[in-house]
This record gives sequence, C-alpha cells and structure tokens, in this order.
Amino acid sequence: MKSIMKKYKLVLFLSLLIYSCNVVSQDDNDWSQSTITNLEDKITKTEGTIRYFVDPKMSIIERNNLIEMAAEYMKQNLMLIEESYLRDSVYIVLVRDKDEMIKYAGGRISGISMLKDYYVPENMICCIPKVLKHELMHILVLLKWDPLIKKDVKHPDWLTEGLAVYADPKAEDLADLTLEEKYVYFYQNNKLLKLDLLTKFPSISDDPTQIKIAYIQSGYIVQSLVERYGIQKLKELWIGNSDFEGIYGICLEDMIQKIDEELDQKFNRED
Ligand SMILES: [Zn+2]
Repeated sequence: MKSIMKKYKLVLFLSLLIYSCNVVSQDDNDWSQSTITNLEDKITKTEGTIRYFVDPKMSIIERNNLIEMAAEYMKQNLMLIEESYLRDSVYIVLVRDKDEMIKYAGGRISGISMLKDYYVPENMICCIPKVLKHELMHILVLLKWDPLIKKDVKHPDWLTEGLAVYADPKAEDLADLTLEEKYVYFYQNNKLLKLDLLTKFPSISDDPTQIKIAYIQSGYIVQSLVERYGIQKLKELWIGNSDFEGIYGICLEDMIQKIDEELDQKFNRED
C-alpha cells in the first residue's frame, strides 16, 4: 500500500511538473522576437489592442505583471475621464532606464507618448515602468479627446501634464505626501510658480526643481478643478480651445487664488 502511494505521488509530481513546464513554455511562446524597425532588440506580445515590447531578459512573471498592471491602469484612467473603452491600437515599449530613452526620445526623459504618423508606426508609449500610468493617460486623452477639438489648438502643458499627474501622483517625487499636501508645502514655502511661468511650462527653464514643482502644481490644479466641477468641464476646456474663463466663469488666475484661499482655510482650521 505504501509503495503504491509512493508511486502514485511520484506520477502526480511528474505530471504536475510536466504540466507546469507546458504552461510556462506556452506563455513564453506567446512572445516573439520583434521585427519592427528600432524595436528589433525587444520581444513582443499582443493582448487585445495593445502590443507590448519588452527586454528579452525580463522574466515571464515580470512580463505578465506588466500586462496585468497596464490593463488595470487603463481601466482606472478610462474611469477617471469617464470614457468606457479604447478601440485604438497602441504599442507599449517598456525601457530599462532613462539612458535607453535617448534612443527613442532623443533625451534622458522618463517617457513619451506619440500618435501614429509617417514616422511612428503605431500610437505609441515609450517609457520607464514608473511612469506607465502617466503616459497611458496622455495617449488616452490624445486618442479620445483630441479628435473632438474643432480647431488645431495646442493645450497648455499645465493642463496636459496636470491631467497625467492627477491620474498618477505616485510617479512624482512626493516623499510620502499626497498631491495636495505637497502643493500646500510648496505654497506655504512660497515655491509655487507664478502663472506666467506655469503657462510657459515645461519650457520654463533648465532648473529641474522648478520643473518638478510645475508638474505637481499642475496636477493639483487639475485635481481641484475635477473635484469641484467634474471631469466633463475639464473635457470642455480640452476640446473648447482652452477658453478657461468661458468654461469656468472666472479666469485661471482667480481660480488659483480661490484654490489657495480654500487651502488656507482648510489647513489653518486643522492647525
Ligand atoms: Zn507627461
């Protein structure tokens, strides 16, 4: 009886082992070497409308986690902008670090989102893992909202970046604070950018500290607008030629003053 049990366990163990090997190799087989120009060093897999490109050294577990994470980020971002689905194809190219970004963006930046055109084979995000959710928001808005713009209008970067920062504040350097707490910290220490500088962001200066502040400041302004007036108003601003006063009833400068005054009250009361 004992030896039969032993044999049975051995057979069970071996068949489980064979089964798990099959599962891994099958998963692995879903990935193939990319033949897309400039992405030949990546392996690729398509899942729905998204095609992933990653370093072949990335383990199968990491790759599966990435796909799960991207799907979740996409769902959360769609909910945030009150859109229900994305039918467009998107390439997600995940790079190791900012040095590798030089190849795709010409500089040591964290990420870039581009629509398909003559030079870009498909709607594309290229980024380090940390900013994937941020970049996904950029591409979502480019695909969902930009086609609704009647005239060819370029949005101010505080709005574009602010929406992406609002979608993923964790990608910013917040040192365990919330977006609001970090904004308040800059506000109380007189470090927030003046409006003329903020509206020129990100081409404001070579000062990386100022650029970091601009991202957080923009993110909090967008958060405040969405919390007070809803995402549909922000969408109106996006597709309505950025006519801030026409949409919100007061100019941006007065709106920022209103936000700051409310923070004054909130934080003084809590003190
Ligand atoms: Zn961005």
